[in-house]
Amino acid sequence: MCGIVGYIGKQKASPILLAGLSKLEYRGYDSAGIATIEKDFIKVAKDKGRVENLYNLKETKELEGTIGIAHTRWATHGIPSKINSHPHLDITESFAVVHNGIIENYIELKKFLEEKGYEFISDTDTEVIPNLISYFYSQEMEDSQNNKNACLRVLKAVKNACEKLIGSFSIEVISKYMPDNMIVVRKDSPLVIGKGNSENYIASDIPAILSYTKDFYLLNNFEYVILSKDNIKFYDNKLNEFTKQTTTITWDAMAADKGGYEDFMIKEINEQPTAVRETIGSRIENGKCIFPELDFSKEYLSSLNLIYIVACGTAMHAGLAVKNTIEKLCKIPVIVDIASEFRYRNPIVNEKTLCIFVSQSGETADTLAALKLSKENHAKTLAITNVIGSSISREADFAIYTHAGPEIAVASTKAYTSQITLLTLLTLYLAETLQTISQNEIREIVDELLSLPSKIENVLKNIDPISIIAKNMFKEKDVFYIGRGVDYVTSQEASLKLKEISYIHSESYAAGELKHGTIALIEKGINVIGIITDSNLVKKTVSNIEELTTRGAITTVIVNEATEKQIDKTIFDNVIVVPETISYLSPIVSIVPLQMLAYFVSKEKGLDVDKPRNLAKSVTVE
Ligand code: GLU
Repeated sequence: MCGIVGYIGKQKASPILLAGLSKLEYRGYDSAGIATIEKDFIKVAKDKGRVENLYNLKETKELEGTIGIAHTRWATHGIPSKINSHPHLDITESFAVVHNGIIENYIELKKFLEEKGYEFISDTDTEVIPNLISYFYSQEMEDSQNNKNACLRVLKAVKNACEKLIGSFSIEVISKYMPDNMIVVRKDSPLVIGKGNSENYIASDIPAILSYTKDFYLLNNFEYVILSKDNIKFYDNKLNEFTKQTTTITWDAMAADKGGYEDFMIKEINEQPTAVRETIGSRIENGKCIFPELDFSKEYLSSLNLIYIVACGTAMHAGLAVKNTIEKLCKIPVIVDIASEFRYRNPIVNEKTLCIFVSQSGETADTLAALKLSKENHAKTLAITNVIGSSISREADFAIYTHAGPEIAVASTKAYTSQITLLTLLTLYLAETLQTISQNEIREIVDELLSLPSKIENVLKNIDPISIIAKNMFKEKDVFYIGRGVDYVTSQEASLKLKEISYIHSESYAAGELKHGTIALIEKGINVIGIITDSNLVKKTVSNIEELTTRGAITTVIVNEATEKQIDKTIFDNVIVVPETISYLSPIVSIVPLQMLAYFVSKEKGLDVDKPRNLAKSVTVE
């Protein structure tokens, strides 16, 4: 995820691009850059760091052009550095490109281009794009029959290049061969065009350019666009020109900063289908899970007698959610530990232990310290973070990434579901290497993984009943969450969400544990939320909830399409049904209505959802 902006008009481009980037900085902020067309060459200003740095660069001040493209990066391939920052140029410096997304087949494309004499200077996936365009442009030039104008030639080259790309992209292209134009196209990454008066704007989202125009073209996948200052021409995937209607935007600018959502948290909850999809990304190939960055041999994995997953807060819950998956599929015991506990209790860690560290930011101080301790004890260490180049990723022997995009709200949502997704993919890779899993099992889990985004979308479409429950709950002092197995993990995460943003005291219990003490707290009117998604455990959990109903509890249950059929709905006050999936993955689906519940309760109380009191997003202190 990143932000891109473009401008083509009569004014100097760079101030407009910088202002747009500042608005998009929530989408990525590890590097930023601009390229403009200066008469007959392209000039680039870029560097690592925030947009603010870009304002102060000498190169930025020298940009005079009235056509430009700009980018604020959230690295997916290659650490944040000046060289890896966008825009990227082709080898002849004739084309400049900014890109949002991931090119899954970039290694293959790089090889193809290297064989043709192209050289690469960055570690990004993006750099193949300008070079592919350059390659196809030179092919066009060789075609002597070809008497198209330069702009149409570039368009053809862009189209040929895009057809080779697997993955997601929205790109802006400028070229010294078409000094009065710009070309843009998207596939699965966002891009909008704002229509001005003798000037046009491009951005990843509407808010970035809403102060210039209210008239937007909302692009669909593989719609190619040639812009000049006075014209916007659309071409379909066969390069036939077509006309497109503008959409008039009526949002107020404040709401628009969050893409039309009221808060970052609700935006991020809604981004989960995309975050999960991006995290799966290119990891599944021919029905197998691939992790080229890990070189775990069968011999090494067979030598392990323990896997530790060490993390804090929500990331620790992601570890709990996959503990059973790893143990079942890899036949290796797993301990999930809280980083601040792990580091001070002399855990038994040695070369027969694989230690996995999970942290959204990759900067969590306790997790980092636990990682260092494990290394000292000769364990292999693997980091799972959302931020390329973060301390934990750099410190670990191996690093793999969720591709959830920046998470701004303090209460983690999309990072959590992406972490479970990635940990499950990792488990499949480990089990396959160990040969402890059959191809059929892999296929079944992979199919379910691929269907997760649409299942989450389904949950997100059905939120009204949850907002009604929140209206009845927001004045409560205590709420209990219960479940068994993975549903117990979901209850822990759901309880944490409620505490974090609504300040309501809440506890989560393994459903069978209540009668060993906690049931003493249940009295008339107490809210209890039960999660029941495992068909084998329905009866047990329902009995536990009935024990609470008898004592006057108000009950809400989260069931799936299968467990719904096994319950008598009339005994509960509220029943929320989510799509069914296999139990390994059910925490990803069943947490979504409970994230929503916490959100709505917090809103009902009029609290600052994104910045709850006493909390920070990235806990870089012990
Ligand atoms: N994959 C590209 C990179 O790592 C673009 C990432 C983004 O969307 O910011 O540079």
